[in-house]
Amino acid sequence: MTEQQARQEMVQLGASFFQRGYATGSAGNLSMLLEDGNLLATPTGSCLGELDPERLSKVTPQGEWISGDKPSKEIAFHRALYLNDENCKAVVHLHSHYLTALSCLEGLDAQNCIRPFTPYVVMRVGDVPVVPYYKPGDQRLAEDLSQLAGRYRAFLLANHGSVVVGKSLREAADNTEELEETARLIFTLGDRAIRYLSDDEVAELRSR
Ligand SMILES: [Zn+2]
Repeated sequence: MTEQQARQEMVQLGASFFQRGYATGSAGNLSMLLEDGNLLATPTGSCLGELDPERLSKVTPQGEWISGDKPSKEIAFHRALYLNDENCKAVVHLHSHYLTALSCLEGLDAQNCIRPFTPYVVMRVGDVPVVPYYKPGDQRLAEDLSQLAGRYRAFLLANHGSVVVGKSLREAADNTEELEETARLIFTLGDRAIRYLSDDEVAELRSR
């Protein structure tokens, strides 16, 4: 994919998230690894619904700002993932409604906050660990993600939102949507008794 195609894809996926209510205001940010080894990212304060391909931020993996508008502060934790996970080619971070609601619950399992009850999260994403709450911009967010990088494809940031990595921006976006829909199901099911997948059923999916 050329850099121009990458810029177009980021603008299109941002608009799609915004139009369908996955992102509101200037919340959320996207990034992807370019063929030249640098990162393309959404600028600070930008609305995902109104991205301009020529103004997207370009930074080195070490965080040096090369061109475009100033990158989001949250690019620090994106970089932690690229630097510590060789398969990470894109990152989607959203404050989407149901995943953020889930991130505010007490008593989540920090190793895996989504106990499987449909096959798709198991097949596409796997376990989703929870990163503790830190105030926006706190570098411990990046430090914690550095520790978890490479072992997981998605993370829930407590009282904040989701972070999903992918081999492409499209894959990270698709898996973010899968997680958001799963979180929505959790709230739809509410207090009802859920038939969770058994350990054997989960193991069978994981072995695929
Ligand atoms: Zn955020």
